[in-house]
Amino acid sequence: MLLNELRDYNASLLQTGLFKDYCPNGVQVEGRAEVRRIATGVSASQQLLDEAIAWGADAILVHHGYFWRNEEAPITGIKKRRIAQLLRNDVSLLVYHLPLDAHPELGNNAQLGKLFGLVEQGRFGEQNIAFVGSLAQPQPLAKFCQQIAHGLQRAPQVIGESGQSIRKVAWCSGGAQGYFELAIAQGVDAYITGEISEQSYHLARESGVAFIAAGHHATERYGIQALGRHLAAQFGLEHQFFEQDNPI
Ligand SMILES: [Zn+2]
Repeated sequence: MLLNELRDYNASLLQTGLFKDYCPNGVQVEGRAEVRRIATGVSASQQLLDEAIAWGADAILVHHGYFWRNEEAPITGIKKRRIAQLLRNDVSLLVYHLPLDAHPELGNNAQLGKLFGLVEQGRFGEQNIAFVGSLAQPQPLAKFCQQIAHGLQRAPQVIGESGQSIRKVAWCSGGAQGYFELAIAQGVDAYITGEISEQSYHLARESGVAFIAAGHHATERYGIQALGRHLAAQFGLEHQFFEQDNPI
């Protein structure tokens, strides 16, 4: 398919125009006009570019790209090396950030809900990207966290009592520790996100709501993969996801 067709299809699928984001969504670096092989990954690191280009990708799709709101503009150093490699190889970089967190089927939060056995009941937070829902049966916190560790292949950092009962849960992938108070206001038993902050500990202790930091990278690997699989099925593209080990 043509890169422009892929760009337009994704813009409509993910409704990128509806989001106020911290980075541009869509094509951040333009490569060759025709796309047959798409590589996906969480972050557009040098390692991802190297592996995807060696595999023969025409386009690389990621959740975390470049040109963040408060980033220095000049294309020098690490940024120069990454962008030069894309341009030299005529490979495109397509980025889907908040629209990919929020998508009701392919999004990070929808995919996490499936992985953890949570049924979505509503949304909250800025631009409604965070989810709230329930487990089919209440579970002790320790058991629920075992399921999370199994699903993500990574042990979460947990603030709470191992025996406390968990049924209603709020979740938001990535660095959404700032939504913890909004999650508490939803009347939940636990909040899952990627990262934890110093103040999250005290809020968890004083509210009695468990805080589960399951990994920024680990909670954001599923949306971009679901998007890649969807595009491969829809347009007969070759797709491969490249996992980059990241303990954060
Ligand atoms: Zn993120």
